[in-house]
Amino acid sequence: MAGKLEGKVAIITGASSGIGEATAIALASVGAKVVLAARRAERLNTLAERIEASGGKALPIVTDVTDETQVNDLVRDAIAQLGRVDIVVNNAGIALLGTIDGANTSDWRRSFDLNVLGLLYVIHAALPHLKNQKSGHIVNISSVAGRTARAGVGVYNATKWGVNALSEALRQEVYKDNIRVTIIEPGLVDTEINNHITDIVAKQRIEERRQSITPLQSEDIAAAILYAVTQPAHVNVNEILIRPTGQDN
Ligand code: NDP
Repeated sequence: MAGKLEGKVAIITGASSGIGEATAIALASVGAKVVLAARRAERLNTLAERIEASGGKALPIVTDVTDETQVNDLVRDAIAQLGRVDIVVNNAGIALLGTIDGANTSDWRRSFDLNVLGLLYVIHAALPHLKNQKSGHIVNISSVAGRTARAGVGVYNATKWGVNALSEALRQEVYKDNIRVTIIEPGLVDTEINNHITDIVAKQRIEERRQSITPLQSEDIAAAILYAVTQPAHVNVNEILIRPTGQDN
């Protein structure tokens, strides 16, 4: 595996924690130059130092992906400083669980702004460059919630079903430009994601669910992403669904 991504540049959104952080480390470990995007500068800088201390190359760029201008700047600065972009891992996301009935509707706007629109802005900004160079790989982090629906998860389900739908449509639009599209669909992963849930009942329920099983680790998902992006150019891994062994649905 050593050096399999030598010469490649990967942008990873949501790189300041969880799956994004683990993915940045994994891709850098096989030679990719990694662009670390998220809002928390200190976390990005610490991660960049860690990657560079192990001999990798990392460029932290503070970005709120719900802001289209910041996303355009992210892609422009990545190319200006590292010369190209080959892989985009659209990982930044939130899971503001709770029932539709009685929900705080600002949670809905935050969810769609980040999980759907933010992801689309990154794709929109990166595509002209990938098309120009006639190669590229877009990895969209969806969820088991993008394949199933559960009471109390409806709006998160809607955002991740949206990610799955737009990813397949995108694949059909860009495969002729030699651009690959992959959806990764994790089950429960041990990260900070639940900290942001505003609905107390939903938060307690998902915490209990997670504690009742051995969840996945961020590194498990990073390994799946690494697998997808290190396949030969003629192999397009479209979808990887990964549950913890103990997860029911
Ligand atoms: P974390 O909360 O650990 O990570 C989320 C990341 O997104 C952070 O780096 C955060 O950084 C970033 N982020 C949040 N808002 C923005 C924003 N507006 N602009 C840029 N970055 C932002 O969660 P996970 O690692 O678990 O989540 C990563 C992805 O995996 C998400 O898409 C999630 O839906 C998906 N997923 C997670 C599962 C789980 O059980 N954990 C299961 C299935 C899917 P910062 O706050 O610094 O901006």
